[in-house]
Amino acid sequence: MLKRLRLITFALLIINSIKMNLHEYQGKEMLSSFGVRIQRGLVAQNPEEAVECAKKLTESTGTSWFVVKAQVHAGGRGKGGGVKLAKSLDEVKSISNDIIGMNLVTPQTSAEGKKVHQVLVAEDVYYPGESETSEFYMSVLLNRATGNNMIMYSTEGGMDIETVAEETPHLIHTIDIDPSTGILPFQARQVAFNLGLSGLAFKEMTKFVVSLYNAYDKSDSSLFEINPVLKTSDNKILAVDAKVTIDDNALFRHKDYLALRDFREENPIEVEANKAGLNYVDLDGNVGCMVNGAGLAMATMDLIKQSGGEPANFLDVGGTADAERVEIAFRIILRDPSVKAILVNIFGGIVRCDRVAQGIVDAYNNMKDSIHIPIIVRLQGTNADLAKKIIDNSGLDVQSAVEFEEAAQKVKEVLAS
Ligand code: GDP
Ligand code: MN
Repeated sequence: MLKRLRLITFALLIINSIKMNLHEYQGKEMLSSFGVRIQRGLVAQNPEEAVECAKKLTESTGTSWFVVKAQVHAGGRGKGGGVKLAKSLDEVKSISNDIIGMNLVTPQTSAEGKKVHQVLVAEDVYYPGESETSEFYMSVLLNRATGNNMIMYSTEGGMDIETVAEETPHLIHTIDIDPSTGILPFQARQVAFNLGLSGLAFKEMTKFVVSLYNAYDKSDSSLFEINPVLKTSDNKILAVDAKVTIDDNALFRHKDYLALRDFREENPIEVEANKAGLNYVDLDGNVGCMVNGAGLAMATMDLIKQSGGEPANFLDVGGTADAERVEIAFRIILRDPSVKAILVNIFGGIVRCDRVAQGIVDAYNNMKDSIHIPIIVRLQGTNADLAKKIIDNSGLDVQSAVEFEEAAQKVKEVLAS
């Protein structure tokens, strides 16, 4: 069930392609430009630069303590040693030296971790004062069930929200916001009230919530996750962390955001595939698949699972499955060393099956030397019989199928052999 949900999420991501993540420092700069109060900081590529950033922060904010924070697209950095407090410029230098270049492993990365290229040097905002500091959780996202926007918030900030959801779900509150009216003043007050605030902190929180919601709306984001939102000891409310995901579909309205994309953070095979106009998502399995159409791709991944395999990828070649595209798709699938077989499942509706078959044969011939695994091709639709003949007569190590079950059986056989 969970697998299934995951696959559906993949398909939704691909169909809607709602995924451009920002680094924390970029997210905070964006929030700040919309009037959201943030923990101020500057980004550095090396330890010397980090020290310069710290000096500038002292000038502009008066702070003499700093936090050095690894900038990677993954949460839980604190737990992995990617967020550290520095109480002097020397410490800023040595901590930056440790963090930049490290492979940061967090609960949200793979076991190999993520290489850190840069750090955010930020002012320390946990200074002692008249009252205690408190950490809250707050996110803004789309509520797909109601078609409204939603603010999700909790007093249990600073920790992993999934754990809060599991163990103390009553401590997570949500508020639905009609996008046509935007956030209403009473809604912002309700958030501040439920977070147990009063006095100045209450007022500051209502301002924070309104500006955060407006930033989400105006930037056409699909997710803001601020964990923690901090109440400082002098009752200011600010964003200490920022996970921002921008809706790709609205990027045409925000051309300046395009420059914020950091390809180093993305899967290199996915980047290459996307450049070639292919919808590709890398998965953990052993059977590569090449399909036209997201729905058929989903069905094909199910088919692979039922045959005892695991899909190694999601790949939608789209409408034009000509030799060139098929070859690019083969090359991309083959870059994944865990692929033990490839299943091509193409429906020839607009594109005729015999042309696709010829495309596959041509692509195969062009790259014969790099293909060392069995390929099963199922072509169904216009001229499917002719297509099967082209494959069968090609003399290549490609097995053809017309029916779905037949393809499944063949996948099972090659995996067993
Ligand atoms: P994450 O671990 O990737 O979610 O990174 P965060 O930006 O949320 O930082 C992790 C933790 O570092 C926070 O929950 C805080 O406890 C701590 N932290 C962040 N900024 C400061 C700061 O200015 N001073 C101190 N003392 N701790 C901080
Ligand atoms: Mn965080």
